[in-house]
Amino acid sequence: MEIIVIGGGIGGLTTGALLTKEGYQVTILEASNEWGGSAGKFSRGKFLFPVGATMGMGFEEGGLHHRIFKELGLSFPAIAMDEIMRIYQGSRVMPYYSDRNRHLSECAIQFPDYAEKIVSFYQEIWKMGAEIRKLIDPLPVVPPVTFAEWRGLLLSLKPGTPLLLPYLRKTMGDLLLKHNLMKATGFKHFIDGQLIDSMQATSENCSALMGALALDIYHEGAYYTEGGLYRVAEILQQYIENNGGKTYRRKQVQTIRREHNRWVAIDQKGERWKADHLVNNLPVQSFVPLLPEPLQKQLPSKLLKRSQLSQWGAFTMYLALDEKVIPNYTALFSQVLSSEGDMTEGNHLFLSLSKSNDLNRAPAGFRTLTVSTHTELHHWDTKEKYDQYKQELTEKMLTGIERVIPHIRSGIELQMTGAPRAWERFTKRPKGMVGGFPQTNEYSLFNSLSHRTGLDGLWLCGDSVFPGAGTIGVSTSGYHVYRSILKDNKKTKLN
Ligand SMILES: Cc1cc2nc3c(=O)[nH]c(=O)nc-3n(C[C@H](O)[C@H](O)[C@H](O)COP(=O)(O)OP(=O)(O)OC[C@H]3O[C@@H](n4cnc5c(N)ncnc54)[C@H](O)[C@@H]3O)c2cc1C
Repeated sequence: MEIIVIGGGIGGLTTGALLTKEGYQVTILEASNEWGGSAGKFSRGKFLFPVGATMGMGFEEGGLHHRIFKELGLSFPAIAMDEIMRIYQGSRVMPYYSDRNRHLSECAIQFPDYAEKIVSFYQEIWKMGAEIRKLIDPLPVVPPVTFAEWRGLLLSLKPGTPLLLPYLRKTMGDLLLKHNLMKATGFKHFIDGQLIDSMQATSENCSALMGALALDIYHEGAYYTEGGLYRVAEILQQYIENNGGKTYRRKQVQTIRREHNRWVAIDQKGERWKADHLVNNLPVQSFVPLLPEPLQKQLPSKLLKRSQLSQWGAFTMYLALDEKVIPNYTALFSQVLSSEGDMTEGNHLFLSLSKSNDLNRAPAGFRTLTVSTHTELHHWDTKEKYDQYKQELTEKMLTGIERVIPHIRSGIELQMTGAPRAWERFTKRPKGMVGGFPQTNEYSLFNSLSHRTGLDGLWLCGDSVFPGAGTIGVSTSGYHVYRSILKDNKKTKLN
């Protein structure tokens, strides 16, 4: 049986590697010159930069990436961090610890007036998180579409699952309100900073269940990876090649057709790739236009509607730095929150610094830094606005980064930016939209998109579909496609 995967992001490579292991003939078609998409990398001279994703999760025993690597007989060298990241918020500098008690003690130091309320907030969040983790351990599909998926979801239910039901329509804001934390502006701002990066929404709109999972999962383990998270993509790609699959770069699929009960993907050079199953590791906004109109009409209306929606863009800076300007003990990951409450347009930065002597990323004496912020795409829709806004945002971000590395400007060896059009060029994401749909009650969980397209043998994985963005999220959807193609839950149960 032949499988084509369009897109060599982590979602598609997960499906491809797992199916290769089962003996399927897998072919991956990747448009760009790199594996990993939003979690990929690029090199300039002697420096290597992660494009977007940098912080790893799910590498602990039982974590999703760990389980998938184990299933494939592989291991992944990720370094667990005691301090997940350091938060710079006005005059506050707050280490965010992985250890739960240490985090609570730090919150008591940083937000003394709210210490007890914060403890009760986290007790509830972590209790929810523990129940959600038990529920999702067998990787049920939400929303269930087939009888087998309903059955899988019902079998996943645990004695504690009913505790989660009252939260189904709640937001993280409701939980902050419940614990009288709405006036704890500094703490709320810290929580919003976490949610926007992981859930693409702030507490006001973020689903309580998804938000609790996000805040809980950091404490299960946050990881630095030598070189970068792109290694996940590369290892999966190599696994496919080493086990009989085929992986091609610079193959951009431009049309999908159905011919004689098989799927045909046609690339930019007119080359035709035929398969029994076609897996699309693409945002839905890119996927739908690949289909001819008669096939589009057969897609579920929810999928068609979502394919019309816009999402966040990202603006990124890539800096190679002389190590001398980096203060000792600078954390590998930091957030800079510059204005009360606003989480976009350079007011919220996520900084990822290479480890000293991570020679995959920079030669001795140098380090690389990737910095990102969320941006609304309307700021970038004309050439005039584009150039001016790029300049403004670059300056604003450099000022923000100075909070972490005060003398950064004197140590810059190389500086590049990634505005939405560059994101579109390198990851083929329309208009540079990234990060999937925000995990609000409107778009998450039972309102997410299924990995099923409604068309036989045509599948979706990646950050548009359940459970959403992040390397764990897209690997989960990749796993769901794999399991659905196999239609054999017993055989595919991960240990
Ligand atoms: C700035 C930023 C920072 C982030 N930080 C983190 C983080 O620290 N940790 C984390 O876990 N997640 C992070 N994320 C989220 C994470 O990177 C993404 O959710 C995830 O990598 C998306 O994977 P994907 O497989 O869905 O899609 P993508 O990574 O977009 O992969 C899709 C691939 O398909 C290819 N493609 C597109 N169209 C075609 C076509 N027509 N034909 C062939 N190939 C095509 C693209 O070139 C791309 O390689 C971050 C995202 C961004 C934008």
